[in-house]
Amino acid sequence: MSPIILVHGGAGDVPDERVPAKISGVKESARIGYSILQKGGSALDAVEAAVRYMEDGEAFNAGYGSVLNLDGEVEMDASIMVGSNLTAGAVTVVKDIAHPISLARLVMEKTPHLLLAGAGANRFAKEQGVPSVPPGSLVTKYAQKALEEFKRKGGDDRTEIGHNNPGDVGTVGAVAIDSKGNLAAATSTGGINGKMVGRSSDTCMIGSGTYADDNTAAISTTGHGETIAKYCLAHAIAKEIEHGKSAQNATTDVLEKMTERLKNTAGAITISKEGDLGIYFTSKRMAWAYQKEDNLHYGIERNQDTTEIIKNSS
Ligand code: ASP
Repeated sequence: MSPIILVHGGAGDVPDERVPAKISGVKESARIGYSILQKGGSALDAVEAAVRYMEDGEAFNAGYGSVLNLDGEVEMDASIMVGSNLTAGAVTVVKDIAHPISLARLVMEKTPHLLLAGAGANRFAKEQGVPSVPPGSLVTKYAQKALEEFKRKGGDDRTEIGHNNPGDVGTVGAVAIDSKGNLAAATSTGGINGKMVGRSSDTCMIGSGTYADDNTAAISTTGHGETIAKYCLAHAIAKEIEHGKSAQNATTDVLEKMTERLKNTAGAITISKEGDLGIYFTSKRMAWAYQKEDNLHYGIERNQDTTEIIKNSS
């Protein structure tokens, strides 16, 4: 099997000034994930590494650079899933750690549970030796400005992440298939700008933000979280693939139906068990990139698919 990694950097109304950083971030994330797959590494290791890279980037709403809750704090959600045996782990409303995706993986591997929340998740991080970062150190000026704008203009009625408030966009996710044909998916977010303290997102919900099953596909979603959660978006895409649709048709059809029914927008990335890809968004933009062999593809606009040849990508 020729391995593939496909990543996204958030669906929504991405402002023009943020486009270059999002594109270069998703490209590098895909390259990092692919270098693991190329050496025979697992889909799980690849998606975790790809997401960790974007959690470090200011241009993305995950880890450092996350959007803020109404108290001006970063509270983050993440989930990860392995397709071979449907094991999964997630965290929600976690604070002051740089890589929530790795904490979600520890929940998967070291606890009998699926999802840890808030103070309990942070206590578990400490027990596992996950370093904490100083309070406030994940907060960027950009995120503070976005919260001020939210408080001035409002935005709880937003139908698209980033609409009317460009500081919002940039949840990250990755899906991969490795050389053994195993699938994995991972998603990480700071949530939505100006959210209530304690709000959990679709991103920590297995079946909404993240899903992986070696019998069907691996999926990571992004966009208006309450809408994605009501529609169980990731699982809905997997079910369409199980019923015979291609990864692209399943991703497109489910997103179109969700947006028609619930009015709000989202995006998703999908890899089927055969290695077919699905990339689609009903929002204005979504940054994405994938690498397969020496080809790195990326885009952020509708119908964009730019290709670069990567030489010696190991
Ligand atoms: N789905 C995320 C949330 O609602 C936001 C996003 O994907 O941009 O928290």
